[in-house]
Order: sequence, then C-alpha cells, then structure tokens
Amino acid sequence: MTAAPAVPRPIAWRFATVLENRAETRRTRTLILDVPGWPGHQAGQHVDVRLTAEDGYRTERSYSIASAPESAGLALTIERLDDGEVSPYLVDELRMGDTLELRGPIGGYFVWSVRDGGPLFLAAGGSGIVPLMAMLRHRAAALAGASAAERRAVPARLLYSSRTWDEIIYRDELAALVAEDPTLEVHHTLTREVGSTWSGLRRRIDRSMLDEIAWSPRERPHVYVCGPTPMVEAVASTLVAAGHDAARVKTERFGPSG
Ligand SMILES: Cc1cc2nc3c(=O)[nH]c(=O)nc-3n(C[C@H](O)[C@H](O)[C@H](O)COP(=O)(O)OP(=O)(O)OC[C@H]3O[C@@H](n4cnc5c(N)ncnc54)[C@H](O)[C@@H]3O)c2cc1C
Repeated sequence: MTAAPAVPRPIAWRFATVLENRAETRRTRTLILDVPGWPGHQAGQHVDVRLTAEDGYRTERSYSIASAPESAGLALTIERLDDGEVSPYLVDELRMGDTLELRGPIGGYFVWSVRDGGPLFLAAGGSGIVPLMAMLRHRAAALAGASAAERRAVPARLLYSSRTWDEIIYRDELAALVAEDPTLEVHHTLTREVGSTWSGLRRRIDRSMLDEIAWSPRERPHVYVCGPTPMVEAVASTLVAAGHDAARVKTERFGPSG
C-alpha cells in the first residue's frame, strides 16, 4: 500500500496583540506584536496581515518580519503611503492592546541564516531594508560571543538607498551594529538629499557602486536585494551582468516605487 501524498496544510490565521507602536522615521513605524502560538521564523520571511471592516469587507497585505528569530515579540515596520488603503491604518491607528489578524511565517526562498555562511551582500531601497534588517539582527544575535575568526567567516555589507538622511530606517541601530562589529559595513546612498552637509553617496544604486561594495563575483557572496520593483530589477540585473551567479542573487519586490 502506498502512502497518500502529503497535502500542505494552509497556514492558520492568528490574532496578534500590539505590544508597542513606535516611530522609526516620519513615515514609518514599527509594531511589536505578541502572537500566541507563533511557530518561529527565519530571517527574510514575511506575514500576511488581514483587516476586516465592520461591513465585512476584507483586505490583505504582506509585511516582512523585521525582528530576528532570536527575539521575543514579532516586529513589523510599515511605511505609510498617503493614498494607501492599509498602511495608514497600521501606522496611524493601531495602539497598544489592539489586535490584528496575521498568518505566517511565509516564504522559504528569500531567507538567510548564519549557517549559510558569507560573504553576505544586502542591497535595500527604502522600506526594503525590513527583511534585510532581520538578517543583520539575526547575524548579530547568532555571532554574539563568537571569536574574531568566526565573524570573519561571515562578513556582511549593506548598501542602503534612502531618499534623505531623515528617511533612513533603523539609522542609529545600523550605526551601533557597525560600531561593535568590524566585519559589518553599512553604506548609505541618498537620492533626494539637497542642501545638507551629507558628503556620502548621492545617487541611485549603480554599477560603479556595486563594483566597489558588493564583493567580486569570484568571492561568491550571498546576495539579497529588496525594495521597490524597479530598484530591485535594476540592482539584480546589474549584479548578474557584472558576473554574479543569478542563483545567488535573491530578490523581494515590495511593489511600485513611491
Ligand atoms: C513580500 C512583501 C513584503 C512586504 N513588506 C513590507 C514591509 O516590511 N513594510 C512595508 O511598508 N511594506 C511592505 N510591503 C508592501 C505592502 O505589502 C503594501 O504593498 C504597502 O504597505 C502598501 O499597501 P497600502 O494598502 O497602504 O497601499 P495600496 O492601497 O495597496 O496602494 C496605494 C498606492 O500605493 C502604491 N503602492 C503599493 N505598494 C507600494 C509600495 N510598496 N511602495 C510604493 N508604492 C506602493 C499603489 O500603486 C497605489 O498607488 C511588502 C510587500 C510584499 C509583497
């Protein structure tokens, strides 16, 4: 007798309670959620959030998990789109003690663990930093107490494109991670910063930036690119044209450019 093929079980919807809703930048906030029965996640995965109106109208959106698998509390960081249906509600309306429905974790492709090794190259545009931050937080937690040689085996670089200095999400935390880890580099590029003293990169991510920061294809970095669709497509195709193995360039598209 042969066993019946396993049918994947649908991922259950769960109620999550908001423990905290804190500002990251003018347009983004982080929700820290308590999710009873949460099965754990891998850095890079996302959840679906479902909202139901009083008249029964329902809508769903995907949000990457910002927290490391090692952390208590599930963190989502949401950018408010002024004409959006869901993001203004999540950012402006949710308060401590409110509940929302979510299901996850979802996604088995755009994930990274310290066990996968390095080098690790991350490229983010805007809120595309969220799943990449989960990877950096996971890396920091997993390497806490590691020797210098163990850290050097998993070096990481982030190239992060934001509109302005004030719109850099997790800016202080990224600086703190770099300060305590010589094997992590964070490079910012600002596309709309005008009239300030910013002396760093001031353009969209391009070939010369990637040639300088992304390691050479010979070093076979694990690459993760996340952000608005046009940014992700431009960065991934530039990396592949530069000789990176397409199978090691993983992408997550958040949607149209703002
Ligand atoms: C796998 C995955 C993970 C995601 N993770 C995050 C996350 O961690 N944080 C986060 O803030 N968002 C994330 N997103 C985007 C999110 O799912 C929603 O698309 C976003 O919050 C807009 O929803 P809305 O209902 O407010 O806007 P909608 O009502 O859907 O759209 C309003 C307007 O904004 C445009 N728009 C839609 N999405 C975007 C976008 N991403 N950027 C710019 N313009 C857009 C639409 O074309 C429309 O003009 C993720 C998307 C995917 C697919």
